[in-house]
Amino acid sequence: MDHRNFDVRYTNEEKGKGLFAFAAIKEGDVILEEEPLVCSQFSWNADYKYLACDHCLRPLETAEENACRLSGRKDLILPYLECCETKKSFITECPHCGAKYCSTKCLEKAWERYHQTLCLQMRNADINHPLIQLKETWKQMHYPPETATILLLARIVAMVNQASDRSAIISTFSQFCHKTINETQEIAHNLLGEKFVGQIDVLREMMQTAVDTQQVPQWFTPDGFRSLIALVGTNGQGIGTSAFSSWVKNVSALDLPDDQRMQVDKLIDRIYDEMEEVVGSFLNNEGSGLYVLQSSANHSCSPNAVVEFPYSNSTLVLRATKNIEPDEEICISYLDECQLERGLPCYFYIKYERVICKDN
Ligand SMILES: [Zn+2]
Ligand SMILES: [Zn+2]
Repeated sequence: MDHRNFDVRYTNEEKGKGLFAFAAIKEGDVILEEEPLVCSQFSWNADYKYLACDHCLRPLETAEENACRLSGRKDLILPYLECCETKKSFITECPHCGAKYCSTKCLEKAWERYHQTLCLQMRNADINHPLIQLKETWKQMHYPPETATILLLARIVAMVNQASDRSAIISTFSQFCHKTINETQEIAHNLLGEKFVGQIDVLREMMQTAVDTQQVPQWFTPDGFRSLIALVGTNGQGIGTSAFSSWVKNVSALDLPDDQRMQVDKLIDRIYDEMEEVVGSFLNNEGSGLYVLQSSANHSCSPNAVVEFPYSNSTLVLRATKNIEPDEEICISYLDECQLERGLPCYFYIKYERVICKDN
């Protein structure tokens, strides 16, 4: 963005970075909009056929297909199909491995940044493929509700390998919040549970088999790898997209006569009830990503800004939920209501811990 209404400042040693308003920001205003430096869909989520663009997480199902799958009803018909945002005709795939993308643009960006390194080079690769082995091992360590995926780390390494300026990309990743070795241990522990020490070594070795890690040997020492996991655990922002919920949002914005409004609202309620019975709270394509600016925002229990994904992809918008004065700190809550309802996933715990220390 050309003119910013915020800046990133170092406050003090203890609190580290923060986002501050530069000029007054009005409630409802967009503070910033950014694409992730890197993101990835969660591994169980992808394998359970939550179909999303492999690069930006945009849903690849139509709202109707999505509603049918999640409600377990094959005969469901949605009205107002013009409110569905999925453009099936734009969907494309990697010719080598079949990875699916919402557009040629995403296919090209992915290839240019990391997919050339991570392409499986075959369709339906089995467990003998080192990358599949890495993913399956991770899945056995990290059951839903998911909060991270090892494939995000693989993408980070691949981005370094494919970058024309490697030291620039390495220093970009090193800007993210870092932890001491003790804190790192604790984060890895939270992320992977009791057996984490042995598991981390297993993952570290598998990763070295699956991806060329020679450009970043410092990330593949035992401590270095723990820091890398902690970097993702501390800074990873959850991303959720859904074809059905964006249809609902668009339908809600239609100007409808009362009787039609009542009818469609009833239908939406019924579909959500049916979905809940079939998939519980697992409604979205889910993943996580690293965002340079958003990761500088500190947590507050009474935040003045909120993270949104209004475009049904990984592009994040930070929006003011209160009027913010010049020089006031812009804070977000790391725990949104839906995450609270689902019972805190461990990585939100981690974020929460980070901030609790920052608040005090
Ligand atoms: Zn995409
Ligand atoms: Zn491929």
